[in-house]
Amino acid sequence: MLDFFTIFSKGGLVLWCFQGVRGPAATAPVNALIRSVLLQERGGNNSFTHEALTLKYKLDNQFELVFVVGFQKILTLTYVDKLIDDVHKEFRDKYRNEFQQKGALGLLNGTFDFKDDFMRLLRDAEESSKVQAPTVMKTFEQSLKSQKTVKCMIETRGEKPKEKVKNKKNKGSKKDGTEAVAAPSKASAADKQLSAAGVKEELTKDEILQKNREEFFRRHMKAGEKSRSPKPDAQKEKGKKPRVWDLGNSNAKVLDYSNSATNGSAEACPVEEFDPDMALGDKNREPGRLYDLEYESDDEAEEEKVVQNSSKPSVKKGGLGGMFGMLKGLVGSKSLTRDDMDPVLEKMKDHLIAKNVAAEIAVQLCESVAKKLEGKVMGTFTTVTSTVKQALQEALVQILQPQRRVDVLRDVMDAQRHRRPYVVTFCGVNGVGKSTNLAKISFWLIENGFSVLIAACDTFRAGAVEQLRTHTRRLNALHPPESHGGRTMVQLYEKGYGKDAAGIAMEAISYARNQGFDVVLVDTAGRMQDNAPLMTALAKLIAVNAPDLVLFVGEALVGNEAVDQLVKFNKALADHSMAQTPRLIDGIVLTKFDTIDDKVGAAISMTYITSKPIVFVGTGQTYCDLRSLNAKAVVAALMKA
Ligand code: GDP
Repeated sequence: MLDFFTIFSKGGLVLWCFQGVRGPAATAPVNALIRSVLLQERGGNNSFTHEALTLKYKLDNQFELVFVVGFQKILTLTYVDKLIDDVHKEFRDKYRNEFQQKGALGLLNGTFDFKDDFMRLLRDAEESSKVQAPTVMKTFEQSLKSQKTVKCMIETRGEKPKEKVKNKKNKGSKKDGTEAVAAPSKASAADKQLSAAGVKEELTKDEILQKNREEFFRRHMKAGEKSRSPKPDAQKEKGKKPRVWDLGNSNAKVLDYSNSATNGSAEACPVEEFDPDMALGDKNREPGRLYDLEYESDDEAEEEKVVQNSSKPSVKKGGLGGMFGMLKGLVGSKSLTRDDMDPVLEKMKDHLIAKNVAAEIAVQLCESVAKKLEGKVMGTFTTVTSTVKQALQEALVQILQPQRRVDVLRDVMDAQRHRRPYVVTFCGVNGVGKSTNLAKISFWLIENGFSVLIAACDTFRAGAVEQLRTHTRRLNALHPPESHGGRTMVQLYEKGYGKDAAGIAMEAISYARNQGFDVVLVDTAGRMQDNAPLMTALAKLIAVNAPDLVLFVGEALVGNEAVDQLVKFNKALADHSMAQTPRLIDGIVLTKFDTIDDKVGAAISMTYITSKPIVFVGTGQTYCDLRSLNAKAVVAALMKA
């Protein structure tokens, strides 16, 4: 039934392998598991699907081993978890001495004659699953329902059932401030007891809903309290500032678009007077350089405080204060257990959620860290908190540095060599900053000596073409043809409103090819991720024009909503594409990063879910407010207390 079972070291040495009769070679699926899960810090779940196979795995962090079993995903093998646990235990026990005494050499030179043991364990596991299979139904008298019925009858007569009284109290607690805090926690404690007694199944739907709501509010209140820590004034002053367009002419003449077939050429878009300093933002920057995202990380003192705070419980437990208490937090050569880590992980999870990381992802991340650390022998003078924190920090940096790096300048030069324009399509919902960031990217490309054709393919939103026209004018004013050897560095290609966007993009690309433009930036209409006809149109635009880069623009401001948008855009592009191998999103432009203070969780959630790199980060409303992602800066902001 199994396709394979393999045991290898984290260093990549295969120690032992069982190959099923019909199964495919283990190499490709195991390599995929290593690449997509183990190296990408996505180990929260111990199962992985590769083509027709399901892979389950277990890590032994003490001896740095990985146990992987593979079987056809259409099979439901209930014994696999038990098998993997049993094999892990037996293999460890059998070769423990070899690993402990010889270390890495033990792995290299060891002979692992494990076939008989494995076959025995496999047989046992299969047998145990067969024995458990038929479950005899309980009689009514045996079931808890019979007891409940009697109880209910007694309670409803004299007084209201406890559960209902409690729920009412909670409803009323909205008005009563003192009860508001106490009630949910009492309720959840009582509920825990109920579920422990196995009565949970008897709760009505409403009661379960109410219970979940209370649990949710309780958690949120906790997270809220933590995030409400006072901030320095300088930070408070940050936030969204209204945009002031000194060229944002409300003059009807300028907005009159009846004379449209201009293609945004320099002559048709006369350069207007405006304050270049304001449009540029930072005057002291190096032209053409895409700066890394900066972040002032916390000072060491604050970090220390976190470590000490979280090791406090161990101090209290032992009843030893001062130096001894501190030493108790040091685990020395002890190997880490789940119980050691759980309180720290719980805190980390709440912290991540408070920083806007999607709750589900925060849980998976902590689970992945736990799996990676469980059984690991800690160094002397290290606390559990600092070990967990460091592992989490490493995992976060890893997530933000996805496998595929997008180097736009290199790719543009490559396209230049092939005498064709490099095409980038921008997509996303309305108002996230597509046009603004498209203009910033144009500016950056121009400063790097590349000419840009902007294709106005948002033929839907009133003012979209005019917005791009204004940007084109400004960019031309900042980089007039005179400073580029008579060459017009940016032009707008537009055909007005209501026309087919895919067709306009196609015309723009061929226009750019004929006119020798280096880059075509295609602006598309904002659309909601659930709007099927508009998503089909976008999939068509992308399929027909085969851009080099499809960028999803999402704002950091909305946090988890941006994750939902990204996932649905990606899925919609796959579902609505006519091609066999659909073109999906290649990278992310994360905008409005300047408005979120240190709640940078959306960056983690977006890259974790899709493995897409964040190619650009928008940090304001001037042309210079464009950055590349600096994983360490984001992680520092995320870990900041
Ligand atoms: P579109 O509908 O997606 O094309 O969005 P726009 O480009 O019209 O931008 C919507 C609003 O977001 C405008 O007011 C922009 O100035 C603003 N905006 C865009 N990017 C950023 C950014 O990185 N930071 C801030 N603070 N505002 C931004």
